[in-house]
Amino acid sequence: MAKIMVCEVCGAEYGVRQGFKGDRFKPVHFCSEECYNKFVEAKDTTPFMLLKDYINSIYPEPELIPWDWIIKQIKSIKKVYDIDEADIRLAIKYAVEFEDYQVDQNLGLGQFIPRYLQPSKEFAESIQKAKKKARNLPVVEPVHITYQPKPKARKFKER
Ligand SMILES: [Zn+2]
Repeated sequence: MAKIMVCEVCGAEYGVRQGFKGDRFKPVHFCSEECYNKFVEAKDTTPFMLLKDYINSIYPEPELIPWDWIIKQIKSIKKVYDIDEADIRLAIKYAVEFEDYQVDQNLGLGQFIPRYLQPSKEFAESIQKAKKKARNLPVVEPVHITYQPKPKARKFKER
Protein backbone atom coordinates (compact mmCIF):
# COMPACT_ATOMS: atom_id res chain seq x y z
CA MET A 1 0.00 0.00 0.00
CA ALA A 2 1.29 3.42 -0.94
CA LYS A 3 1.97 5.81 1.88
CA ILE A 4 -0.88 8.22 2.46
CA MET A 5 -0.03 11.81 3.32
CA VAL A 6 -2.33 14.30 4.94
CA CYS A 7 -2.42 17.84 3.63
CA GLU A 8 -1.43 20.25 6.36
CA VAL A 9 -3.84 22.89 5.05
CA CYS A 10 -7.09 21.17 4.09
CA GLY A 11 -6.65 17.75 5.68
CA ALA A 12 -7.05 15.90 2.37
CA GLU A 13 -5.33 12.55 2.00
CA TYR A 14 -3.14 12.00 -1.02
CA GLY A 15 -0.53 9.59 -2.28
CA VAL A 16 3.04 10.49 -1.41
CA ARG A 17 3.89 11.21 -5.08
CA GLN A 18 0.87 13.41 -5.75
CA GLY A 19 1.63 16.15 -3.26
CA PHE A 20 3.06 19.53 -4.05
CA LYS A 21 6.48 20.77 -2.94
CA GLY A 22 7.10 24.48 -3.04
CA ASP A 23 10.30 26.41 -2.44
CA ARG A 24 9.39 27.10 1.16
CA PHE A 25 8.16 24.93 4.02
CA LYS A 26 9.67 21.76 2.59
CA PRO A 27 8.88 19.54 5.59
CA VAL A 28 5.20 20.50 5.44
CA HIS A 29 2.86 18.33 3.37
CA PHE A 30 0.59 19.93 0.79
CA CYS A 31 -1.89 18.14 -1.46
CA SER A 32 -1.76 20.82 -4.15
CA GLU A 33 -0.16 24.07 -5.23
CA GLU A 34 -3.36 25.80 -4.18
CA CYS A 35 -2.95 24.61 -0.58
CA TYR A 36 0.73 25.50 -0.63
CA ASN A 37 -0.16 29.03 -1.70
CA LYS A 38 -2.81 29.27 0.99
CA PHE A 39 -0.26 28.19 3.54
CA VAL A 40 2.29 30.72 2.37
CA GLU A 41 -0.32 33.46 2.43
CA ALA A 42 -1.90 32.76 5.74
CA LYS A 43 0.62 30.51 7.44
CA ASP A 44 -1.17 29.20 10.46
CA THR A 45 -4.65 30.54 10.11
CA THR A 46 -6.68 27.95 8.23
CA PRO A 47 -9.48 26.48 10.37
CA PHE A 48 -7.91 23.02 10.10
CA MET A 49 -4.54 24.27 11.32
CA LEU A 50 -6.07 26.33 14.08
CA LEU A 51 -7.92 23.23 15.24
CA LYS A 52 -4.76 21.13 15.13
CA ASP A 53 -2.82 23.77 17.04
CA TYR A 54 -5.52 23.97 19.63
CA ILE A 55 -5.71 20.20 20.10
CA ASN A 56 -1.94 20.21 20.39
CA SER A 57 -2.12 22.81 23.16
CA ILE A 58 -4.63 21.03 25.40
CA TYR A 59 -3.40 17.45 25.61
CA PRO A 60 -1.14 16.77 28.62
CA GLU A 61 1.43 15.11 26.32
CA PRO A 62 1.04 16.63 22.85
CA GLU A 63 3.91 14.60 21.40
CA LEU A 64 1.90 11.43 22.03
CA ILE A 65 -1.23 12.58 20.20
CA PRO A 66 -2.15 9.94 17.58
CA TRP A 67 -2.71 12.39 14.73
CA ASP A 68 -3.75 9.81 12.13
CA TRP A 69 -6.63 8.82 14.33
CA ILE A 70 -7.54 12.37 15.39
CA ILE A 71 -7.62 13.54 11.75
CA LYS A 72 -9.92 10.64 10.89
CA GLN A 73 -12.13 11.66 13.78
CA ILE A 74 -12.22 15.27 12.57
CA LYS A 75 -13.37 14.06 9.16
CA SER A 76 -16.09 11.81 10.46
CA ILE A 77 -17.30 14.41 12.99
CA LYS A 78 -17.61 16.96 10.17
CA LYS A 79 -19.74 14.53 8.19
CA VAL A 80 -21.87 13.12 11.00
CA TYR A 81 -22.73 16.44 12.66
CA ASP A 82 -22.52 18.62 9.55
CA ILE A 83 -20.11 21.08 11.19
CA ASP A 84 -16.70 22.49 10.31
CA GLU A 85 -13.30 22.73 11.99
CA ALA A 86 -14.20 26.01 13.68
CA ASP A 87 -17.27 24.40 15.29
CA ILE A 88 -15.18 21.48 16.53
CA ARG A 89 -12.63 23.87 17.96
CA LEU A 90 -15.34 25.88 19.67
CA ALA A 91 -16.79 22.76 21.32
CA ILE A 92 -13.36 21.70 22.61
CA LYS A 93 -12.54 25.23 23.73
CA TYR A 94 -15.83 25.47 25.52
CA ALA A 95 -15.25 22.17 27.35
CA VAL A 96 -11.70 23.03 28.40
CA GLU A 97 -12.02 26.73 29.15
CA PHE A 98 -15.57 27.09 30.44
CA GLU A 99 -16.49 23.68 31.82
CA ASP A 100 -12.96 23.12 33.10
CA TYR A 101 -12.91 19.70 31.48
CA GLN A 102 -9.68 17.79 32.13
CA VAL A 103 -8.45 16.33 28.85
CA ASP A 104 -7.83 12.58 28.97
CA GLN A 105 -4.67 11.72 27.03
CA ASN A 106 -6.05 8.28 26.15
CA LEU A 107 -9.21 9.58 24.55
CA GLY A 108 -9.77 11.23 21.21
CA LEU A 109 -12.29 13.86 20.19
CA GLY A 110 -15.12 11.64 21.45
CA GLN A 111 -14.52 13.14 24.88
CA PHE A 112 -15.75 16.51 23.57
CA ILE A 113 -18.13 15.68 20.77
CA PRO A 114 -21.10 15.35 20.81
CA ARG A 115 -21.27 16.15 24.53
CA TYR A 116 -20.13 19.78 24.32
CA LEU A 117 -21.40 20.54 20.85
CA GLN A 118 -24.84 21.87 21.78
CA PRO A 119 -23.77 23.82 24.89
CA SER A 120 -20.91 25.44 22.96
CA LYS A 121 -23.32 26.50 20.20
CA GLU A 122 -25.69 27.99 22.75
CA PHE A 123 -22.78 29.72 24.41
CA ALA A 124 -21.62 31.25 21.12
CA GLU A 125 -25.18 32.34 20.32
CA SER A 126 -25.62 34.00 23.69
CA ILE A 127 -22.38 35.92 23.14
CA GLN A 128 -23.63 37.01 19.72
CA LYS A 129 -26.91 38.17 21.26
CA ALA A 130 -25.12 40.05 24.00
CA LYS A 131 -22.96 41.77 21.39
CA LYS A 132 -26.03 42.79 19.42
CA LYS A 133 -27.69 44.10 22.56
CA ALA A 134 -24.59 46.05 23.46
CA ARG A 135 -24.59 47.62 20.01
CA ASN A 136 -28.18 48.76 20.47
CA LEU A 137 -27.57 50.33 23.85
CA PRO A 138 -27.75 54.12 23.93
CA VAL A 139 -24.34 55.67 24.11
CA VAL A 140 -23.66 56.64 27.67
CA GLU A 141 -21.41 59.55 28.45
CA PRO A 142 -18.63 58.64 30.79
CA VAL A 143 -19.47 59.69 34.31
CA HIS A 144 -16.79 61.34 36.36
CA ILE A 145 -17.07 60.39 39.91
CA THR A 146 -15.40 62.58 42.46
CA TYR A 147 -14.44 60.97 45.63
CA GLN A 148 -16.10 62.30 48.67
CA PRO A 149 -14.84 61.03 51.96
CA LYS A 150 -17.57 59.68 54.17
CA PRO A 151 -18.23 61.64 57.29
CA LYS A 152 -16.62 59.83 60.14
CA ALA A 153 -18.92 57.47 61.89
CA ARG A 154 -19.96 58.80 65.18
CA LYS A 155 -18.57 56.85 68.06
CA PHE A 156 -20.89 55.92 70.80
CA LYS A 157 -19.60 56.90 74.11
CA GLU A 158 -19.96 54.47 76.92
CA ARG A 159 -21.64 55.88 79.87
ZN1 LIG B 1 -4.76 20.48 0.62
